[in-house]
Amino acid sequence: MNEKALNYEVSIFKYLAEKGEASIDELSDVFSLPPSNIIEKIKKLNEIGLFINSEDNKFKIPSSSDFSLIALYLKRMNTFINYNMIFYEECDGSQEIAEEIAKNGAEEGNLVLCEEIKNARGRFGRKWHAPKGGIWFSLILRPPSLEWINLISLAMGASVSIAIEDVLNIKSGLKWPNDVLINEKKICGILSEAKITDDRLDYVIVGVGLNANNELPNELKAQAISLKQIYGRNIPALPLLGRILYLFGWEYKKIIEGRVEAIISDWKLRSLTIGRKVRIENRDEIVYGTAVDIDTDGSLVVNLENGKIEKFYAGDVFHLRF
Ligand code: ATP
Repeated sequence: MNEKALNYEVSIFKYLAEKGEASIDELSDVFSLPPSNIIEKIKKLNEIGLFINSEDNKFKIPSSSDFSLIALYLKRMNTFINYNMIFYEECDGSQEIAEEIAKNGAEEGNLVLCEEIKNARGRFGRKWHAPKGGIWFSLILRPPSLEWINLISLAMGASVSIAIEDVLNIKSGLKWPNDVLINEKKICGILSEAKITDDRLDYVIVGVGLNANNELPNELKAQAISLKQIYGRNIPALPLLGRILYLFGWEYKKIIEGRVEAIISDWKLRSLTIGRKVRIENRDEIVYGTAVDIDTDGSLVVNLENGKIEKFYAGDVFHLRF
């Protein structure tokens, strides 16, 4: 789909996001289009994840409290992954639920979304704060090969960052391997976990924790931020989630087709890590250097202080200020 041709549709979305709702006659007047064209354009918006609710000739942005209805909107979306939403108001861990259903054979595209997660976790079992108002979900994927796992995290990070800009006009950047930052603070964390059975990749679960309309506890305020804080009011969470899933669907297609360079260039366009001085803590080792590139397998290429060039796959990367 040629996204550049969709400027008209996106203007309608932005108008509705500003006003909350509008009648078909109002949109017809404002955009100088006959009502039948407006209906077509609203349909297109739903296809690209920018969900709009239509009722009694009125169009409005779905309320953020309508997460339970997202399954209906997902059916209207047109992307590479066939998503199926499993919704919980509250749960102990969306990664664990997704894992359980994946073990029982759930297909790629099943997605566990919890409004509130009591015991959410990040990488290395670190605690993740996931109260009501945020976007917290775990997606089951069944890619053909384990070598894609780093790229899946990068592709999800790029999708989140682009979606935030499309829906809210807010710019964000990507910190290798798995964070989306705004003003150096974490807006979103991504956790990709793989299950391997008999040397074969069984499934990957991609967890996404995006601070949307949730509050953050005091102890996280120095390092984390929510979209609501930046936007100044509640953000339209359903279209944002829709847009993330739509964009990730097409990014994932690129991975499956081996169009790795395209994924990496989408990520690099928003990278906050390349060119930065970094400290990397990997198991017992601490090294310093300058991040110079992302390799085709998603690893971080670092020019170390000792002059060697090395690739890193995991570990903690800290951006240094000098
Ligand atoms: P970091 O990049 O901050 O070192 P990480 O990438 O190793 O973290 P993650 O799994 O992304 O690990 O996140 C876990 C960490 O994120 C926690 O230790 C906590 O400091 C912080 N955190 C917890 N909840 C949130 C949240 N809702 N938003 C942002 N940061 C959070």
